[in-house]
Amino acid sequence: MKRKITRVVKVGNIEIGGNNPIRVQTMTKTPTVDVKATVRQIRRLAKKGCEIVRVGVPDKESALALGKIKKESPIPIVADIHFDYRLALTALEQGVDKLRLNPGNIKNPKYVSIIAKEAKARGVPIRVGSNAGSLPKEILEKYGGLTSEALVESALNEVRLLEDNDFTDIVISVKASSVPLTVEAYRLLSEKVDYPLHIGITEAGTLFPGTIRSSVGLGILLYEGIGDTIRVSLSAPPDKEVEVAYEILDSLELRRKGLRVLACPMCARSHFPVQEVAKEIEKRFGDYPLNLVIAVMGCEVNGPGEAKWADIGITGSKERVIIFKKGKIIKETSFERIISELEEELTKIKEVNSN
Ligand code: SF4
Repeated sequence: MKRKITRVVKVGNIEIGGNNPIRVQTMTKTPTVDVKATVRQIRRLAKKGCEIVRVGVPDKESALALGKIKKESPIPIVADIHFDYRLALTALEQGVDKLRLNPGNIKNPKYVSIIAKEAKARGVPIRVGSNAGSLPKEILEKYGGLTSEALVESALNEVRLLEDNDFTDIVISVKASSVPLTVEAYRLLSEKVDYPLHIGITEAGTLFPGTIRSSVGLGILLYEGIGDTIRVSLSAPPDKEVEVAYEILDSLELRRKGLRVLACPMCARSHFPVQEVAKEIEKRFGDYPLNLVIAVMGCEVNGPGEAKWADIGITGSKERVIIFKKGKIIKETSFERIISELEEELTKIKEVNSN
């Protein structure tokens, strides 16, 4: 897995691209004018590890709410703006850290130029790019429909509009809901530019299918070294988008975030309620601050051996529960005491690490 090294773009205090970690971002789902609810959601997302958050700016009231949101937000804010260049200018005045724009749908090059000048003066980067649902007619005609080349050409046209104004603080995306189309488009784009890429599968769906589609698409790209920041788009609470993003990065060993609970698939040897225990551990210790792996295994015979690599392992039978570390049994306990014993172990590890 060799990462393509891109230029570095700074969004508030967070750097995207270059050798920086692949950044996790999402979008709020509250009305932006409801500052209280939006800030509450952003704080929750930041706690989950979200590093950059985008808020939709459909109208002037939303644009005017950005300053208050920005003041209360622990992470950088990206204003998502379409059509109206005045909203972009208001968002900049309100102090946002990045703009998400479609210069193509702002139409008048004079307005794009005004935004570029203002963003440059404030050191605010802009994400541009294409979306399968809104490609210009002439490009669709040129390519005979929606193709990866069409997506890339449209995105590069947007980039050029900014470059013509001497603006290069750019992040690019080429999103589609088709996984193969998205992968092909990003591959092509990555060969052509060294701007950082924001990757995602758009309109991926509800939690289960959307997670799979996003994991397949983003997994391929990230494995090929493409992508500097990711957003998982799900028809589900944004917290889930952040969780899934970290699972994708974690499964490719690109980033870790807190406790990872792994569990064996169970088989005829299983005498332990693996699923129930794994879920309870996730629920109880989801906020644990250290990167640790806990393995929940279905049987005493093979469990400790199969989970030798885990920091802590748990298995047992109906009669007893064993806790092991790196494959060696350290404790025998009862089913009722699993959580408290585990808590004790996790506290010990945390104390050792803080000394
Ligand atoms: S740990 Fe035991 S129960 Fe789980 S899959 Fe392996 S052999 Fe089966």
